[in-house]
Amino acid sequence: MQAILKYIKLSLTPEMKQEFYKSLAKRCIIICKIILPAIMLFQAYNMVHMAFFRKNGLSTTPHQVYFLLYVVLFFISLIGFIGLLCWSKKIEKHANTILNLQFVYAFIICLWGACVTLYDQRVTENVSVYLVMVMSIAMLTILKLWQIFIIFPACQVFLIAFFPTFQPEPTNNAGNFINTTVFAIMAVLISCNNYLSAKHSFYNNSLLQEKNNSIELMNQKLQTLAITDSLSGLYNRRFLDDIFPKIWSSCVNSQVMLAVIMIDIDNFKRYNDNFGHQAGDRCIFSIAQLIQNFLKDENSYAFRYGGEEFAIILPGTSEEKALETAQCLCTSVRNYRCGKGEYAATISAGVYCGMPNALTVSREFFALADRALYQAKKNGKNQVQLYQDDVIKEENFSNKTK
Ligand code: GH3
Ligand code: MG
Ligand code: MG
Repeated sequence: MQAILKYIKLSLTPEMKQEFYKSLAKRCIIICKIILPAIMLFQAYNMVHMAFFRKNGLSTTPHQVYFLLYVVLFFISLIGFIGLLCWSKKIEKHANTILNLQFVYAFIICLWGACVTLYDQRVTENVSVYLVMVMSIAMLTILKLWQIFIIFPACQVFLIAFFPTFQPEPTNNAGNFINTTVFAIMAVLISCNNYLSAKHSFYNNSLLQEKNNSIELMNQKLQTLAITDSLSGLYNRRFLDDIFPKIWSSCVNSQVMLAVIMIDIDNFKRYNDNFGHQAGDRCIFSIAQLIQNFLKDENSYAFRYGGEEFAIILPGTSEEKALETAQCLCTSVRNYRCGKGEYAATISAGVYCGMPNALTVSREFFALADRALYQAKKNGKNQVQLYQDDVIKEENFSNKTK
């Protein structure tokens, strides 16, 4: 019992409710686009048949009444269809109005079925039109609960109240009363089930969607974490190993130069000894930020290569440009102070720029840039060295700019 109550009482947040009504309105528009033309066509056929092919045509009162009922349903459906075409573009804003109009139309259809059935009672005890209409509404629409408990009971009361009025002589109507009431109750149950299932499946889909979104977000975070070095915030060595072959082949394919800059903080052991490891960490972070700020081009990448070493990859960059970048960076670090009154760190950099091709080994670029870096250290640190055609051109940068 509690499970049933829980099933019925499922409550949605106001935002979810609005979304749910939008989904119901969308469904209503789709169904009505099929059903309303079909009803109009059927009523048009009834009208033509009644007017031109039935014996006596429209000359008898019953035929006129039936004809009038067909006309009424035809025009109500036509108005509904025209309204539908107007509203179908405004589902987002007017979902609730669409659902209320659906309620009005469903109510009219059931009442129409009851009227035809009542009028049929003059000649037959048949109640099939009413039953067909009530069941069609129950199965094809998704009505809100309050709407369900108005339409079907109200139509049933209306039918039963006027049932004997249209019968020419007193008849025992018990059978029809019971049958139509059972059908009305069935219609209520079917409609409630439709509404609650739609609500539950919407709720479950929303939960699923929410979970998918958070998994997606978590995946993105994990992916970022997996390629980021936690101390410096730059890309890590793993990402370098992953992306470098791709950058390499893209340079080979588009025949552009590739520059690699290897950077090492000078005398960093001493820095740690003097200021402590935490200050050293802050220094690594600050220098990493300076490096990152230098790379404006979205094709260039900066990595923490390991310890106090960094690597920069500049695809499609000339030797002059790579050298200039390294030199600016070197000056920038020299002028920077890591922390209050802390020691000004310097860096040394080795630059190699070449044309990648299918025959050269990609790792060779790092080895050559590293050799240039070694030379920069050997020459007194705090400077940039360019590696060129096996001859390391000394760019005694520190002396030039001091
Ligand atoms: P050189 O100018 O020749 O590069 O001298 P160096 O002292 O920088 O080089 P060395 O290789 O002797 O020492 C590197 C130091 O970098 C030693 C190590 O403690 C420090 N280091 C490496 N990684 C980290 C880190 O993540 N945080 C801190 N604080 N220090 C680090
Ligand atoms: Mg080192
Ligand atoms: Mg060092």
